Amino acid sequence: MSQTRRPETIAAAHGVAADAAFGAVTPPIVLSSTFAFAGYDRPRAHDYSRGANPTRELLADAIAQLERGAAAIVLASGMAAVDLVLSRLRRDDLVIAPHDCYGGTYRLLAARRERGHFDVAFVDQNDDDALRAALARRPALVLIETPSNPLMRVVDIRALAAGAHAAGAKVAVDNTFLSPALQRPITLGADFVIHSTTKYLNGHSDVVGGAVVAADRAEAETLAAWANTIGVTGSPFDSYLTLRGLRTLFPRLLQQQANAAAIARFLVGRAEVSAVHYPGLASHPGHAIAKAQQSGFGAMLSFELAGGAEAARRFVESVEVFAFAESLGGVESLVAHPATMIHAGMGEEARRAAGIDDGLLRLSVGLEAEADLIAGLETGLAALGDPTPLTGAFDARSK
Ligand SMILES: *Cc1c(COP(=O)(O)O)cnc(C)c1O
Repeated sequence: MSQTRRPETIAAAHGVAADAAFGAVTPPIVLSSTFAFAGYDRPRAHDYSRGANPTRELLADAIAQLERGAAAIVLASGMAAVDLVLSRLRRDDLVIAPHDCYGGTYRLLAARRERGHFDVAFVDQNDDDALRAALARRPALVLIETPSNPLMRVVDIRALAAGAHAAGAKVAVDNTFLSPALQRPITLGADFVIHSTTKYLNGHSDVVGGAVVAADRAEAETLAAWANTIGVTGSPFDSYLTLRGLRTLFPRLLQQQANAAAIARFLVGRAEVSAVHYPGLASHPGHAIAKAQQSGFGAMLSFELAGGAEAARRFVESVEVFAFAESLGGVESLVAHPATMIHAGMGEEARRAAGIDDGLLRLSVGLEAEADLIAGLETGLAALGDPTPLTGAFDARSK
């Protein structure tokens, strides 16, 4: 399909009505693990599905076009996508990563450093002095997450990519929180885009998957070959479901972010809430950069309950409409407690340094009616004043 089509059209219709066998409008799923050779020494385009599969390729092409990259590799999880980008590194290489990066990414980077695979510096990418000092160490890779998880800090991709390139580093942006519907890092200078397709790209909380998009075709081919070598490519069935989810990416995100903006405004006015982190608020420190580099503020936000861990416990046990669960990006609304869930593996010291306090809650806002979402949150907040004595221990540092 032509690169000139609008992104909404790519999402809704890439590969539609292209089936030569039956004229199927929905691209058929190809589950076969292996493909017959046309004859002696005559392989077809596909031979074995670990390396290449038509259904997975269709999803990869759609994601690559949406991100304006040369090609994409579809993987079994978002963590496989992060690790695939890290596979480029050698023993003496340095990775600069955000100090408040996704908990799983933090764990992976720390574990590979521990095993001597490469060195890592976790840096507050909004601290100019720290960033300058880190870039002076001539890193091989700069990893960016913006908006960050869970504090929604915004990083200027264009400025950091320019600084990283000047220092000789490649730049990878984890675009999971916004998706290409709202941010296209390659157009801002990134070399690689990482996705947990588990989140917005699939959008229905029924697949775990990932993708890497490369700006450069040769880099994409090297990564695809490595993904085949270590066997982390995504399954055809998951690819089929993810492509089905991708069809509605744009309308989902637009409606979800409208709901998120309404919720941010609601929370700002509540006495129980000491801070609201949403880049769409004019008071957010990253608001101006977000406005310039994103085409929307997204559907993720976090907020701080003044009452700390105990308030967080009461809230998540009382809130309605929002399910108390990890993950994000689905059509259903979720609330998570980063200190005991997503960021539990980080260790208390690193967590505090990243500003993730015990009263912090993260919301992934879904497609429910705005009034029901706000009523659900109101129920949770009303429980904070509940004088009922506690039963059972809740220790925010216990995991
Ligand atoms: C979920 C997530 C990942 C990891 O993806 P999985 O699909 O769970 O392996 C990586 N980065 C970010 C920002 C995420 O939210």
